[in-house]
Amino acid sequence: MPYSVSPIGFVRSCFKEKFAIPRQPQLAPAARGVLELLAPFDTGEAVQGLEQVSHVWLLFLFHQALEDKPRLKVRPPRLGGNQSLGVFASRATHRPNGIGQSVVKLDRVEAGRLWLSGIDLLDGTPVLDIKPYVPYADSVPTAYNRIADSAPAAIAVDWQDKALQQARAHGLRLNEPLTELIEQCLAQDPRPAYQQPQPERRYGASFWDVDVRWHYPQPGRICVLEVVPAIPPSEL
Ligand code: SAM
Repeated sequence: MPYSVSPIGFVRSCFKEKFAIPRQPQLAPAARGVLELLAPFDTGEAVQGLEQVSHVWLLFLFHQALEDKPRLKVRPPRLGGNQSLGVFASRATHRPNGIGQSVVKLDRVEAGRLWLSGIDLLDGTPVLDIKPYVPYADSVPTAYNRIADSAPAAIAVDWQDKALQQARAHGLRLNEPLTELIEQCLAQDPRPAYQQPQPERRYGASFWDVDVRWHYPQPGRICVLEVVPAIPPSEL
């Protein structure tokens, strides 16, 4: 028997496309966003007390990865994209019911708005529920995961002088830690593991309202080439 759920709000996020979003929350502390609550949750009553909490669980819909036919096996990027795993042994976006969950930092609470950081959510993500993180119950000191036992190793991120100046200027304009955001996300190496990056190949992703372009001058090293205003989809 089907059950129905509906969003309690939507996230306005620094991430405008899926590519280059970290694969889990907390990996990019400079990744910020605002959860805008819908009526009747937007009056302040529903979030009363939340100012006493540092982190929250968000339960949300992978709205850009919903599929009619459930997959039983997935190929997580973490395993290089060529090894398959049971869907329930992974945190893949393509999953039954398309539900995601992330622990994120709660920076500020306002009636109708939660200011978040360390997010791994795409702009426009529908949120189904919010729950306070409870350290004594949610953190398990003896826990292990032999498939993903630690955060992915970060790679070096260098900047061309012009790109660093552009990132700083756009960061000031946006009043956001843009340089840190770009460094933290690119250090995760967003490129699919099966691609061997040639130095002449350019990669790109959008953060807030800017496009960032980079290349791999040598294996395991990224160089940011430019940070320029994004072209609005209507002008593409
Ligand atoms: N922490 C969550 C979890 O474990 O359920 C998400 C993990 S999932 C592997 C993270 C990826 O989901 C991100 O790298 C991004 O590409 C993708 N993603 C984030 N928001 C999405 C959305 N609304 N729809 C589809 N994909 C999304």
